[in-house]
Amino acid sequence: MSDFIYLLDIYPWLFMLLSFIFAAAIGSFLNVVIHRLPIMLKREWQQECQGYLEQYHADTLSPAQLSTLGKVNDGYPEKYNLVIPGSACPQCGHKITAWQNMPILSWLFLRGKCASCQKAIPARYPLVELFTGIAVAVLAWHFGPSMQFVFATILTFALIALTFIDLDEMLLPDQITLPLLWLGLLINYQGVFSDLSDAVIGATAGYLSLWSIFWLFKLLTGKEGMGYGDFKLLAVFGAWLGWQLLPLTILLSSLVGAIVGITLIISKRINVGNPIPFGPYIALAGWIAMIWGTDIISWYLNYLL
Ligand SMILES: [Zn+2]
Repeated sequence: MSDFIYLLDIYPWLFMLLSFIFAAAIGSFLNVVIHRLPIMLKREWQQECQGYLEQYHADTLSPAQLSTLGKVNDGYPEKYNLVIPGSACPQCGHKITAWQNMPILSWLFLRGKCASCQKAIPARYPLVELFTGIAVAVLAWHFGPSMQFVFATILTFALIALTFIDLDEMLLPDQITLPLLWLGLLINYQGVFSDLSDAVIGATAGYLSLWSIFWLFKLLTGKEGMGYGDFKLLAVFGAWLGWQLLPLTILLSSLVGAIVGITLIISKRINVGNPIPFGPYIALAGWIAMIWGTDIISWYLNYLL
């Protein structure tokens, strides 16, 4: 094992290549998470609501009427989770075979079409795989074979899932953000990215800073510009990186968010006042801060001050 790590250490290109292949395969699974987790969550919420309705109407409706109340009917099979059922073409139901499920390559071989019904497979699937592969190859190059690489990779997988779920559904599930928060505090117990005390302050300050902006904005304009998921995601970066990198993360995410938002408004893809998800910008900004944050700050202090 240590020989293998030594090999990866002296051949960074080999390490980057292996990381790319591994991450692209995980990216294939992330596509499943991005698609299915929101459906699973909506079912859970509907079932909760159904429970409340049943209690509320328990005296007035018959058991038969109660059982049909708010029945979940989303068109997906009854047993539905991240593993079951296996991936299939949404158009014709063709089960996707192992060789049709290779990251990036299968989509290219199939020329972006279902092998059975020839309907187009969205380019987003291979792009998520490619993007995941590249992101983790960058981590391999930057961190080398280390504990930091291992945990930065886990964080990157979670951030990619969060980014695309937020783009699709305007939602950053607690099922992903909260475990990340605990994991960040736990690894910094061993000081992987930051001192534990800086991480604890970072988690708190990350949450409170966006929470205060949210309430200030809401009191002044009556509108909600962000969601609670955004506060939790910034708290994640505080927990992972320490409070020192929070100002940079907020600055970068606002900058990228503003550029993208203005571009979309000018190109008339969206209107002023349309909600845009903020999670992807926090995710990207925090990811950049994790890798180059300290460099960016010292460069700024040296050359601009
Ligand atoms: Zn098909």
